[in-house]
Amino acid sequence: MFKYSMINPVDAGTVRRCDCWGEGHFGAPRGCRTHRGVDIVARADAPVFSPMHALVVRVAEPYDDDAVLSGVLLQGIDAHAGLEAKLFYVLPDLALMGQCVRAGTVIGCVQSLQARYPGITDHVHLEVRAQAVHIDPVPLIADLS
Ligand SMILES: [Zn+2]
Repeated sequence: MFKYSMINPVDAGTVRRCDCWGEGHFGAPRGCRTHRGVDIVARADAPVFSPMHALVVRVAEPYDDDAVLSGVLLQGIDAHAGLEAKLFYVLPDLALMGQCVRAGTVIGCVQSLQARYPGITDHVHLEVRAQAVHIDPVPLIADLS
């Protein structure tokens, strides 16, 4: 899986450390489940970049009961074929649905999480699957730690 490299979806984004709602690393506890992605600290309204060459498949909703918080599902193409990425707490650019983008293309903007999780560090949740298995994206992104 380390043949892949991805770019940071957030300018100067870093992994979310412990706050009142938990930690942002892959595998962090979430009640009886574990965190299947990584949380990248971001400022609300900042641009979000595609982490890979991808088909923008569709809007992906993080929560059934929340019509505001949104996200996007990407399917890797070219050097990223075999990868799938979900980014949450992103208001996606709807004009890109069904389109192919290069890594680094702006695909939306960061949403504030304060209404749902008061006091949390605003972030983009990035979840990556390689051949349908969830993997930690951090080793794939050179400037993310
Ligand atoms: Zn997360």
